Amino acid sequence: MTTVHAASPFDEWLAGDPEVARLLGEEADRQSTTLQLIASENFTSPAVLAASGSILTNKYAEGYPGRRYYGGNQVIDEVEDLARARCTALFGADHANVQPHAGANANLAVYQALLQPGDTILAMRLDHGGHLTHGSPASITSKVWRFVSYGVSAATDDPDKPGEVIDFDNLADLARRERPALIVAGSTAYARIIDPLPFRQIADEVGALFLFDAAHPAGLIAGGAHPSPVGIADVVTFTTHKTLRGPRGGAIVCNEAHAKAIDSAVFPGLQGGPLEHVIAAKAVAFAEASRPEFAQYASAVVANAGALAASLAEEGFRLVSGGTENHQVLLDLRTFDEELTGKVAQEVLDRAGITCNRNTIPDDPRSPFITSGLRLGSAAQTTAGMGTDEFRLIGSLIGRTLRGRDDEATIAAVRAEVRELCAGFPPYAALSRS
Ligand SMILES: *Cc1c(COP(=O)(O)O)cnc(C)c1O
Repeated sequence: MTTVHAASPFDEWLAGDPEVARLLGEEADRQSTTLQLIASENFTSPAVLAASGSILTNKYAEGYPGRRYYGGNQVIDEVEDLARARCTALFGADHANVQPHAGANANLAVYQALLQPGDTILAMRLDHGGHLTHGSPASITSKVWRFVSYGVSAATDDPDKPGEVIDFDNLADLARRERPALIVAGSTAYARIIDPLPFRQIADEVGALFLFDAAHPAGLIAGGAHPSPVGIADVVTFTTHKTLRGPRGGAIVCNEAHAKAIDSAVFPGLQGGPLEHVIAAKAVAFAEASRPEFAQYASAVVANAGALAASLAEEGFRLVSGGTENHQVLLDLRTFDEELTGKVAQEVLDRAGITCNRNTIPDDPRSPFITSGLRLGSAAQTTAGMGTDEFRLIGSLIGRTLRGRDDEATIAAVRAEVRELCAGFPPYAALSRS
């Protein structure tokens, strides 16, 4: 018997489009019968789904509350004001812009607000965990601004000082030599707490502005599990869909001094009409993240990543930076099996129902398409209710799958175990019907 899961409360309204309805059903099934370990993903609440699937998608609202270019925005203004107020309250910020369609747009808007074309930006190396918008040759950012990159320190054999953490000596040297206009903190594949204070000190020393890109840890910061960069960095950008557990989107918080420049850079600088249905869903998520349960969630996310990391270390994998302090685990596959690439590991795990992504590790000898690493995250399955026991089990299932990767029976056996494990933790229990 197969269980069909409703993809949203408006499911029946899709009955007239059986092709899309079928695809949504299949994806709902995938999300609830396989393990979601992609570090940038989560399961939103039904309330977030309802708001982002709402009639607010119908409204054009170019501009900002009280200053719109179209009529009929009385209700929309209240929606966006509510989202802004909840966002500033949640993060203790002076000002919030909740319009960026994604984290990438938020970063682009900040560069545009604070810099002139050609200015120097000091950001994390892409192969050490930096994001595309931190100056990838493939990104528009590297064509408009001049990027200089800092990285992590070398790995060591000392278990007490494993290395592979942000190298602040190197960062300070680069800052003194290059005199950047902006220093960016933040990463897409880094398992440690990013302390905003050393960045602030270095930025002050060289007269640079400081952007903290909290795309990944925003939920951990909101939940009090990580130190907040708000009030320390000049500007903080984040995505609302990663650990913060809201709809797909971006946001920016800053002090009053930069508010006007940031708002103009988002609209009309970079975007047209805002996605007010998504902004309503952001408002829902900000309220959810301000509740005591969310603080418990944030600390459970960190504890679960720790349990996963410990179990994977027992399986023979090397943990980049020696462990984790956030929702991520970055694995070096080479100690487990010299021949195993990130690409093959991701594909085999996918067939076993374990969804994750290959990732470069610092100084990876393999290309970004092949890689020697794997990135895992605990945010989504923690939302589904899993705890440290389940995450330890997941670590052993990953070891078993990759050890038996040439044996179809092993992969099928793990797939069955994963299905059973997931059945105990349905992400949308209230929405599923059999
Ligand atoms: C995910 C991420 C972004 C961009 O988010 P999108 O919503 O995918 O555009 C920006 N910076 C960092 C560090 C990220 O991890």
